Amino acid sequence: MSKALTGKIYDIQGFSVQDGPGIRTTVFLKGCPLRCPWCHSPESQEFFTELNWLQIRCLGLEACGLCLGVCPHAAITRGPVAENALGEEIIYPEIDKSKCDNCGACAAACKATALYLCGTDKTVAEVMHRLLRDKPFFDESGGGVTVSGGECLCQPGFTLELLKNCKAHGIHTAVDTTGFVKWETLASVLPYTDLFLYDLKCMDSALHKRVIGVPNELILDNAKKIAAAGGRLWIRIPVIPLFNDSEAHFLQYAAFLSALKSSLEMVQLLPYHTMGLSKHERLLKKEKIFVAEPPSDALMEARSKLIASYGLPVRIH
Ligand code: SF4
Ligand code: SF4
Repeated sequence: MSKALTGKIYDIQGFSVQDGPGIRTTVFLKGCPLRCPWCHSPESQEFFTELNWLQIRCLGLEACGLCLGVCPHAAITRGPVAENALGEEIIYPEIDKSKCDNCGACAAACKATALYLCGTDKTVAEVMHRLLRDKPFFDESGGGVTVSGGECLCQPGFTLELLKNCKAHGIHTAVDTTGFVKWETLASVLPYTDLFLYDLKCMDSALHKRVIGVPNELILDNAKKIAAAGGRLWIRIPVIPLFNDSEAHFLQYAAFLSALKSSLEMVQLLPYHTMGLSKHERLLKKEKIFVAEPPSDALMEARSKLIASYGLPVRIH
Protein backbone atom coordinates (compact mmCIF):
# COMPACT_ATOMS: atom_id res chain seq x y z
CA MET A 1 0.00 0.00 0.00
CA SER A 2 1.38 3.43 -0.91
CA LYS A 3 2.13 5.87 1.89
CA ALA A 4 -0.54 8.54 2.46
CA LEU A 5 0.41 12.03 1.32
CA THR A 6 1.31 14.29 4.24
CA GLY A 7 1.83 18.01 4.65
CA LYS A 8 4.09 19.64 7.23
CA ILE A 9 1.79 21.85 9.25
CA TYR A 10 2.63 24.24 12.06
CA ASP A 11 -0.85 25.37 13.04
CA ILE A 12 -4.55 25.09 12.32
CA GLN A 13 -6.49 28.12 13.56
CA GLY A 14 -10.26 28.20 13.77
CA PHE A 15 -12.52 31.25 13.94
CA SER A 16 -10.27 33.42 11.79
CA VAL A 17 -11.96 36.51 10.36
CA GLN A 18 -8.84 37.94 8.69
CA ASP A 19 -8.07 35.31 6.05
CA GLY A 20 -10.95 35.74 3.60
CA PRO A 21 -14.73 36.17 3.85
CA GLY A 22 -16.79 34.90 6.81
CA ILE A 23 -15.54 32.71 9.62
CA ARG A 24 -12.65 30.59 8.42
CA THR A 25 -10.28 27.90 9.57
CA THR A 26 -6.74 28.52 8.39
CA VAL A 27 -4.24 25.72 7.82
CA PHE A 28 -0.64 26.94 8.08
CA LEU A 29 1.99 24.95 6.18
CA LYS A 30 5.69 25.17 6.93
CA GLY A 31 8.33 26.45 4.54
CA CYS A 32 8.75 29.68 2.58
CA PRO A 33 11.19 30.72 -0.19
CA LEU A 34 11.07 34.38 0.93
CA ARG A 35 12.83 35.93 3.90
CA CYS A 36 10.91 39.04 4.88
CA PRO A 37 12.90 40.69 7.71
CA TRP A 38 9.61 41.75 9.40
CA CYS A 39 8.03 38.26 9.15
CA HIS A 40 5.34 37.91 11.84
CA SER A 41 5.39 34.11 11.65
CA PRO A 42 9.09 33.17 11.53
CA GLU A 43 8.18 29.65 12.65
CA SER A 44 6.73 29.24 9.13
CA GLN A 45 9.98 29.88 7.28
CA GLU A 46 11.91 26.61 7.50
CA PHE A 47 10.62 23.52 5.72
CA PHE A 48 11.57 21.21 8.59
CA THR A 49 10.23 20.60 12.10
CA GLU A 50 12.20 22.77 14.51
CA LEU A 51 12.73 23.36 18.21
CA ASN A 52 11.10 26.38 19.89
CA TRP A 53 11.62 27.64 23.43
CA LEU A 54 9.05 29.78 25.22
CA GLN A 55 10.79 31.67 28.00
CA ILE A 56 7.64 32.52 29.93
CA ARG A 57 6.89 28.81 30.46
CA CYS A 58 10.41 27.88 31.53
CA LEU A 59 10.87 27.18 35.26
CA GLY A 60 14.65 27.61 35.09
CA LEU A 61 17.46 25.17 35.69
CA GLU A 62 17.47 25.47 39.50
CA ALA A 63 13.76 24.62 39.87
CA CYS A 64 13.58 22.16 36.98
CA GLY A 65 16.53 21.46 34.70
CA LEU A 66 14.94 18.39 33.10
CA CYS A 67 16.37 19.40 29.73
CA LEU A 68 19.98 19.52 30.91
CA GLY A 69 21.88 16.38 29.99
CA VAL A 70 19.31 14.90 27.59
CA CYS A 71 20.71 16.40 24.41
CA PRO A 72 22.72 13.84 22.38
CA HIS A 73 24.72 16.72 20.86
CA ALA A 74 25.40 18.64 24.08
CA ALA A 75 23.56 21.64 22.64
CA ILE A 76 22.00 22.59 26.00
CA THR A 77 24.12 24.26 28.68
CA ARG A 78 23.58 26.60 31.65
CA GLY A 79 22.95 30.18 30.57
CA PRO A 80 23.98 33.28 32.54
CA VAL A 81 21.90 34.60 35.48
CA ALA A 82 18.90 36.42 34.00
CA GLU A 83 15.64 37.99 35.22
CA ASN A 84 12.23 36.43 34.74
CA ALA A 85 8.96 38.35 34.15
CA LEU A 86 8.57 38.82 37.92
CA GLY A 87 12.04 40.37 38.26
CA GLU A 88 13.45 37.25 40.00
CA GLU A 89 16.94 35.94 39.25
CA ILE A 90 16.81 32.77 37.18
CA ILE A 91 19.15 30.62 35.12
CA TYR A 92 17.68 29.54 31.81
CA PRO A 93 19.05 26.81 29.57
CA GLU A 94 21.16 28.09 26.70
CA ILE A 95 20.56 26.25 23.44
CA ASP A 96 23.17 26.26 20.70
CA LYS A 97 21.07 25.99 17.55
CA SER A 98 24.19 25.24 15.47
CA LYS A 99 24.55 21.89 17.32
CA CYS A 100 20.80 21.09 17.44
CA ASP A 101 19.31 18.67 14.89
CA ASN A 102 15.74 19.19 16.18
CA CYS A 103 15.52 15.60 17.45
CA GLY A 104 12.98 16.61 20.10
CA ALA A 105 14.55 14.76 23.06
CA CYS A 106 14.62 17.92 25.17
CA ALA A 107 11.04 18.82 24.20
CA ALA A 108 9.93 15.36 25.33
CA ALA A 109 11.72 15.88 28.66
CA CYS A 110 10.29 19.37 29.28
CA LYS A 111 7.15 18.88 31.37
CA ALA A 112 6.40 22.61 31.28
CA THR A 113 6.30 22.54 27.44
CA ALA A 114 8.67 25.50 27.34
CA LEU A 115 10.58 23.47 24.76
CA TYR A 116 8.41 22.19 21.94
CA LEU A 117 8.67 21.12 18.33
CA CYS A 118 6.97 23.21 15.67
CA GLY A 119 5.84 21.34 12.53
CA THR A 120 3.81 18.12 12.38
CA ASP A 121 3.25 15.80 9.42
CA LYS A 122 -0.47 15.28 8.84
CA THR A 123 -2.43 13.47 6.13
CA VAL A 124 -5.17 15.18 4.15
CA ALA A 125 -7.73 12.94 5.90
CA GLU A 126 -6.46 14.05 9.33
CA VAL A 127 -6.69 17.73 8.39
CA MET A 128 -10.13 17.26 6.81
CA HIS A 129 -11.36 15.56 9.99
CA ARG A 130 -10.41 18.73 11.90
CA LEU A 131 -11.80 21.13 9.25
CA LEU A 132 -15.19 19.43 8.94
CA ARG A 133 -15.86 20.14 12.63
CA ASP A 134 -16.06 23.84 11.67
CA LYS A 135 -18.31 23.40 8.61
CA PRO A 136 -21.47 24.66 10.39
CA PHE A 137 -19.65 27.95 11.08
CA PHE A 138 -18.56 28.22 7.45
CA ASP A 139 -22.10 27.58 6.24
CA GLU A 140 -23.60 30.07 8.67
CA SER A 141 -21.12 32.91 7.97
CA GLY A 142 -20.19 32.47 4.31
CA GLY A 143 -16.72 31.42 5.42
CA GLY A 144 -14.51 28.45 4.59
CA VAL A 145 -10.97 27.15 4.66
CA THR A 146 -7.82 29.15 3.94
CA VAL A 147 -4.59 27.32 3.17
CA SER A 148 -1.67 29.50 4.23
CA GLY A 149 1.96 29.33 5.29
CA GLY A 150 4.81 29.94 4.88
CA GLU A 151 4.17 29.35 1.22
CA CYS A 152 1.59 26.56 1.06
CA LEU A 153 2.23 26.03 -2.66
CA CYS A 154 5.76 24.84 -1.82
CA GLN A 155 3.89 21.69 -0.73
CA PRO A 156 1.86 21.60 -3.96
CA GLY A 157 0.58 18.00 -3.89
CA PHE A 158 -0.74 18.26 -0.35
CA THR A 159 -2.32 21.70 -0.89
CA LEU A 160 -4.02 20.54 -4.10
CA GLU A 161 -5.49 17.44 -2.42
CA LEU A 162 -6.67 19.48 0.56
CA LEU A 163 -8.40 22.00 -1.71
CA LYS A 164 -10.03 19.23 -3.77
CA ASN A 165 -11.35 17.61 -0.60
CA CYS A 166 -12.73 20.92 0.66
CA LYS A 167 -14.54 21.52 -2.63
CA ALA A 168 -15.93 17.96 -2.53
CA HIS A 169 -17.50 18.90 0.82
CA GLY A 170 -18.90 22.18 -0.53
CA ILE A 171 -16.44 24.35 1.42
CA HIS A 172 -15.31 27.78 0.13
CA THR A 173 -11.52 27.77 -0.34
CA ALA A 174 -8.84 30.45 -0.23
CA VAL A 175 -5.12 30.13 -0.89
CA ASP A 176 -2.83 32.63 0.84
CA THR A 177 0.28 32.87 -1.34
CA THR A 178 3.43 34.90 -1.90
CA GLY A 179 3.00 34.23 -5.62
CA PHE A 180 6.64 33.12 -5.78
CA VAL A 181 5.87 29.69 -7.25
CA LYS A 182 5.81 28.17 -10.73
CA TRP A 183 2.75 29.20 -12.77
CA GLU A 184 2.01 25.49 -13.36
CA THR A 185 1.52 25.06 -9.60
CA LEU A 186 -0.87 28.01 -9.37
CA ALA A 187 -2.71 26.78 -12.48
CA SER A 188 -3.17 23.33 -10.91
CA VAL A 189 -4.94 24.72 -7.81
CA LEU A 190 -6.91 27.41 -9.64
CA PRO A 191 -9.99 25.24 -10.37
CA TYR A 192 -10.30 24.41 -6.65
CA THR A 193 -9.55 27.89 -5.27
CA ASP A 194 -12.39 30.37 -4.84
CA LEU A 195 -10.09 33.18 -3.74
CA PHE A 196 -6.37 33.99 -3.74
CA LEU A 197 -4.99 36.11 -0.91
CA TYR A 198 -2.01 37.41 -2.80
CA ASP A 199 0.91 39.30 -1.24
CA LEU A 200 2.54 42.20 -3.11
CA LYS A 201 5.37 43.32 -0.90
CA CYS A 202 7.25 45.68 -3.20
CA MET A 203 7.01 46.95 -6.78
CA ASP A 204 10.78 47.47 -7.24
CA SER A 205 12.35 44.14 -8.17
CA ALA A 206 15.93 45.06 -7.19
CA LEU A 207 14.75 46.28 -3.77
CA HIS A 208 12.53 43.19 -3.41
CA LYS A 209 15.56 40.98 -4.03
CA ARG A 210 17.89 42.94 -1.77
CA VAL A 211 15.51 42.92 1.20
CA ILE A 212 13.47 39.73 0.78
CA GLY A 213 15.96 37.57 -1.08
CA VAL A 214 14.08 37.02 -4.36
CA PRO A 215 13.05 39.33 -7.25
CA ASN A 216 9.38 40.14 -7.94
CA GLU A 217 8.89 39.52 -11.68
CA LEU A 218 7.48 36.01 -11.17
CA ILE A 219 5.10 37.33 -8.50
CA LEU A 220 3.78 40.14 -10.72
CA ASP A 221 3.46 37.83 -13.75
CA ASN A 222 1.55 35.22 -11.76
CA ALA A 223 -0.89 37.84 -10.44
CA LYS A 224 -1.63 38.90 -14.02
CA LYS A 225 -2.06 35.27 -15.10
CA ILE A 226 -4.49 34.51 -12.26
CA ALA A 227 -6.55 37.55 -13.29
CA ALA A 228 -6.45 36.54 -16.97
CA ALA A 229 -7.61 33.02 -16.02
CA GLY A 230 -10.60 34.46 -14.12
CA GLY A 231 -9.30 33.80 -10.58
CA ARG A 232 -10.51 36.05 -7.77
CA LEU A 233 -7.94 38.13 -5.89
CA TRP A 234 -7.53 39.89 -2.59
CA ILE A 235 -4.19 41.67 -2.89
CA ARG A 236 -2.41 42.12 0.44
CA ILE A 237 0.19 44.87 0.84
CA PRO A 238 2.18 44.96 4.08
CA VAL A 239 2.97 48.63 4.63
CA ILE A 240 6.58 48.67 5.80
CA PRO A 241 8.30 51.90 6.92
CA LEU A 242 11.16 53.02 4.65
CA PHE A 243 10.54 50.06 2.32
CA ASN A 244 7.30 50.47 0.40
CA ASP A 245 5.32 53.18 2.24
CA SER A 246 6.12 56.21 0.03
CA GLU A 247 3.55 57.91 -2.16
CA ALA A 248 5.71 57.18 -5.24
CA HIS A 249 5.66 53.47 -4.40
CA PHE A 250 1.91 53.47 -3.94
CA LEU A 251 1.44 55.14 -7.32
CA GLN A 252 3.21 52.10 -8.80
CA TYR A 253 0.94 49.76 -6.83
CA ALA A 254 -2.14 51.61 -8.05
CA ALA A 255 -1.06 51.45 -11.70
CA PHE A 256 -0.32 47.72 -11.48
CA LEU A 257 -3.53 46.88 -9.60
CA SER A 258 -5.66 48.85 -12.06
CA ALA A 259 -4.73 46.28 -14.71
CA LEU A 260 -6.10 43.47 -12.47
CA LYS A 261 -9.36 45.31 -11.77
CA SER A 262 -11.76 42.74 -13.24
CA SER A 263 -10.47 40.06 -10.82
CA LEU A 264 -9.71 42.28 -7.87
CA GLU A 265 -12.19 41.96 -5.02
CA MET A 266 -10.13 43.74 -2.38
CA VAL A 267 -6.84 45.48 -1.69
CA GLN A 268 -5.88 45.03 1.95
CA LEU A 269 -3.27 47.31 3.49
CA LEU A 270 -1.59 45.65 6.45
CA PRO A 271 0.36 48.04 8.69
CA TYR A 272 3.73 46.74 9.85
CA HIS A 273 3.74 45.55 13.47
CA THR A 274 6.24 43.97 15.82
CA MET A 275 4.31 40.85 16.81
CA GLY A 276 6.91 38.62 15.16
CA LEU A 277 9.61 39.71 17.62
CA SER A 278 8.76 37.33 20.47
CA LYS A 279 8.23 34.42 18.06
CA HIS A 280 11.65 35.14 16.57
CA GLU A 281 13.21 34.83 20.03
CA ARG A 282 11.31 31.58 20.66
CA LEU A 283 13.04 30.06 17.65
CA LEU A 284 16.39 30.89 19.22
CA LYS A 285 17.35 32.69 16.03
CA LYS A 286 20.55 34.71 16.00
CA GLU A 287 19.75 36.83 12.90
CA LYS A 288 18.34 40.28 13.53
CA ILE A 289 14.68 41.00 12.81
CA PHE A 290 13.64 44.34 11.29
CA VAL A 291 12.31 46.71 13.98
CA ALA A 292 10.67 50.08 13.26
CA GLU A 293 7.83 52.32 14.39
CA PRO A 294 4.55 51.12 12.84
CA PRO A 295 3.15 53.44 10.14
CA SER A 296 0.87 56.17 11.51
CA ASP A 297 -2.91 56.10 11.04
CA ALA A 298 -2.57 59.23 8.92
CA LEU A 299 -0.13 57.54 6.55
CA MET A 300 -2.33 54.43 6.28
CA GLU A 301 -5.35 56.63 5.50
CA ALA A 302 -3.41 58.58 2.87
CA ARG A 303 -2.19 55.42 1.10
CA SER A 304 -5.67 53.92 1.27
CA LYS A 305 -7.16 57.06 -0.31
CA LEU A 306 -4.55 56.94 -3.07
CA ILE A 307 -5.53 53.35 -3.97
CA ALA A 308 -9.25 54.20 -3.73
CA SER A 309 -8.77 57.19 -6.07
CA TYR A 310 -8.07 54.65 -8.85
CA GLY A 311 -11.53 53.13 -8.29
CA LEU A 312 -10.06 50.11 -6.48
CA PRO A 313 -11.74 48.51 -3.43
CA VAL A 314 -9.39 48.99 -0.47
CA ARG A 315 -9.45 48.29 3.26
CA ILE A 316 -6.96 48.88 6.05
CA HIS A 317 -6.51 45.56 7.83
S1 SF4 B 1 16.03 19.13 19.92
FE1 SF4 B 1 18.10 19.99 19.67
S2 SF4 B 1 18.67 20.80 21.67
FE2 SF4 B 1 16.91 19.41 21.96
S3 SF4 B 1 17.83 17.41 22.44
FE3 SF4 B 1 17.49 17.43 20.22
S4 SF4 B 1 19.41 18.19 19.36
FE4 SF4 B 1 19.46 18.68 21.54
S1 SF4 C 1 12.94 21.31 31.05
FE1 SF4 C 1 11.73 22.98 30.20
S2 SF4 C 1 10.99 24.16 31.97
FE2 SF4 C 1 12.66 22.82 32.68
S3 SF4 C 1 14.48 24.14 32.58
FE3 SF4 C 1 14.38 22.98 30.66
S4 SF4 C 1 13.25 24.33 29.24
FE4 SF4 C 1 12.92 25.11 31.32
